[in-house]
Amino acid sequence: MIPFIDLARQHAALRAELVAAMGRVLDSGQFVLGAEGRALEDELAVACGVRHAVGVASGTDALRLALTALGVGPGAEVLTPAFSFVASASTVVMAGATPVFVDIDPETYTLDVAAAERAVTPRTRAIIAVHLYGHPAPMDAVAALARRHGLAVVEDAAQAIGATWAGRPVGAWGDVACVSFYPTKNLGACGDGGMVLTDRDDIAERVRRLRHHGDGGRYRHVELGYASRLDELQAAVLRVKWRRLGEWTERRRRLVARYRDRLAGLPLSLPLERREARHVYHLFTVRHAQRDAFAKALADLGVGSSVHYPLPVPSQPMFGGDERRFPEAWRAAREVLSLPCFAELTDDEADAVAAAARKACELI
Ligand SMILES: *Cc1c(COP(=O)(O)O)cnc(C)c1O
Repeated sequence: MIPFIDLARQHAALRAELVAAMGRVLDSGQFVLGAEGRALEDELAVACGVRHAVGVASGTDALRLALTALGVGPGAEVLTPAFSFVASASTVVMAGATPVFVDIDPETYTLDVAAAERAVTPRTRAIIAVHLYGHPAPMDAVAALARRHGLAVVEDAAQAIGATWAGRPVGAWGDVACVSFYPTKNLGACGDGGMVLTDRDDIAERVRRLRHHGDGGRYRHVELGYASRLDELQAAVLRVKWRRLGEWTERRRRLVARYRDRLAGLPLSLPLERREARHVYHLFTVRHAQRDAFAKALADLGVGSSVHYPLPVPSQPMFGGDERRFPEAWRAAREVLSLPCFAELTDDEADAVAAAARKACELI
C-alpha cells in the first residue's frame, strides 16, 4: 500500500532534533508569545521579503484576523474563488462580511481575474487570491485589478509557502498574506498554527493586538480581540522543519517531473505550471473524466489518493447548497484527484503510483 501522505516518515527522520526543540521549550517555561515564536516570525518575514510576520493559532485565524485588520466587516463584499478549501470563504463570514464567489481558471485552479472584475460592486473591499495546490494566483493581474477598484489584496498562501510568481515570493504581493501550518501543509506543525505576513505596519500592529484579546498593552483592551497565538512548542517544531523546507520543495518538484514523464499519454490532465510560476506542489492533482472510478481502481491497486475538493465552496451546505453558477469550479470538483506527493515518497513508490495509474486508466 502506498499512502497518500505519511507524516511519520518525516518525523522519524527529524525525531532527535524535534524532541530537543520541544525540550528547550519545556525547560524555558514559556509557552505563549516567547522567543521561539519571535524567531520563527523573523525567519519567515526575511524569507518572504516582508517587514512583518505575526504568528497566530491557525491559517483560518490568519485569514480572519487579516480581514478584520484591513477593516473588512459588515457591509463589505470580498471576492474569493468558488473552488478552494472552505476557509477561503468562511473567514469572510467570520469577519462579518459577505463572500462573493468567482469562478476559477481551469488550468491552474486559481481565480479567474476577468470573472473577478465582473463581480466587483461598490461594496467590494478586498480580493482573496488563493494559491491553490501550491500554484500561485496571477498576482500581477490581481494587483492591477485591485488598483483599478481600490481593493485590498489578501493572499491565501496556506498551500504555497515557498512558491513564487514572476520571481517574487508569494506572501510579498498582497497587502497581507496568510500561511497555514496545519500538519499536512508543506511546512506543517505538530498541531495547528498560522502566520500573517505583511509590509504594512498598521496591519501587523492590529493583528498582534487582535490575536491577544485586543490588548493595547498591560491589560488595556482597546478592542474586541481573540486568543489566537502561535504557541511556543509549535514554533520550535516549525523552526526545525523550516530549515528543510527548501530541500523538501525541491524533492516534491523532482517527484512531479518523474510523474510527468511516466504519466504522459494517459487520459489524465496533469497540473500546469505557468511560465511566471514556481509551483511548490502542495498537492499533485490530476483530472480524469471518471474520477471516482479512477480513484477506486487506484485504491484496488494499493495506491492512496484524495479529492481536493469534492464540492465548490458556494455549493457547501453552509453556503446554501447546490449552486451551479460556477461551471469550472463544478467541473474541477467532479474531476480532480490528488496523488501521493510528499518529500519522503521514494522514486520506486512514485514509479509504482504511475504504473498503477496506467493500469487504472486501462481498467476503466
Ligand atoms: C489549510 C487551508 C486554510 C486553513 O488553514 P488552517 O491552518 O487549517 O486553519 C485556508 N486556506 C486554504 C487554501 C487551506 O488549504
